Amino acid sequence: MTPLEQQIHQRIAADGPMPLAEYMIVCLTHPEFGYYTSGHPVGGKASGETPPGDFITAPEISQMFGELIGVWCMEVWQALGSPNRFNLVEIGPGRGTLMKDLLRVSQVLPNFMAAAHVYLVEVSPTLSHVQGQNLPSQANIKWIADIDDLPDRPTIIIANELLDALPIRQWCKHGADWLERAVGIVDEQLTFVLRPNRLELSDLPPDHVTRPEGTLFETAPAREAFVARAAELIQSNTGAALFIDYGHLKSGYGDTFQAVRDHVPANPLQLPGRTDLTSHVDFSPLRAAANSNGCEVPQPVTQRQFLLTLGLLERAGQLGAGRPSSVQSELQQAVERLASPQGMGDLFKVMGFAAPASVGNQLPGFS
Ligand code: SAH
Repeated sequence: MTPLEQQIHQRIAADGPMPLAEYMIVCLTHPEFGYYTSGHPVGGKASGETPPGDFITAPEISQMFGELIGVWCMEVWQALGSPNRFNLVEIGPGRGTLMKDLLRVSQVLPNFMAAAHVYLVEVSPTLSHVQGQNLPSQANIKWIADIDDLPDRPTIIIANELLDALPIRQWCKHGADWLERAVGIVDEQLTFVLRPNRLELSDLPPDHVTRPEGTLFETAPAREAFVARAAELIQSNTGAALFIDYGHLKSGYGDTFQAVRDHVPANPLQLPGRTDLTSHVDFSPLRAAANSNGCEVPQPVTQRQFLLTLGLLERAGQLGAGRPSSVQSELQQAVERLASPQGMGDLFKVMGFAAPASVGNQLPGFS
């Protein structure tokens, strides 16, 4: 048993089954034993890091990802009227790779660099340390615990693979009701059980009555609240935000709660605190949350559409020009992983939003 598993057993013995959202929060961000707070989650097996990470993300696949997000930020900044001070915020920066590539590419626009006050929002002291080591010391970078701590000025927010780590709730069809799925103890083992509390039927898609017994439906109030706060901040300060993650644009049924350890799928109830826990992001309520908090939200697009619109192929061509064929084929593979339907191209979606009329009539990348 991991130390965290012991604590979870004690809590369930005292308070009864633990809702999934609470289980995710404890496993990912427990101050001492949480997965993000205590470990080194992000990295490739071949990255040579010790310990190697459990999963690899787009910025770790290729420098082109962070560079194109940099292009997006520069275009947004210009569309905002090139303010001479602005907050450039990344939430959940992992190893700091995206920000490093973004800052390097933005040297082409010295006024952007001079105006940027970089803020990293991170829950993990371990990862904050790695970010500090990987990012240039001359950049004006501060670490903050929450977006509420940002000073009031025009703000550009980016977050890659953050939303999937925020807690979800699951509801299981049981007769005429949808009961909450939770983690209990059966035969000394952590096991999925149902709690008696019900989801309001009005929170379900209209076809819920036709769904078979045992169907699961996921809600993510914490994600909606987070996006709502980001939208409120963007609306009052002017600016724009970009959230990239795996998920779907239309709400649906099914279990997307998943665990990964050492680059392979794992049982989410085994080795709590040592396993990454995430779920697919339902962008539909998040769009609504940003919109009802005063932002304009163009139709989200796939990562493939977004990166191609921002110039992924052109950037790969530039980086490969005159280089050995081994480098060109690495670039080709990176393009495939980032943008092809077999790679991350279709599963990953990009949602952007902006304060009304602040970036003209078109947010870059969403044509
Ligand atoms: N964006 C990075 C890392 C993705 S992993 C990349 O693309 O490589 C998820 C990141 O979100 C980690 O940095 C993790 O510590 C952070 N994180 C998880 N929950 C968070 C929360 N509630 N608030 C802020 N950051 C969080």
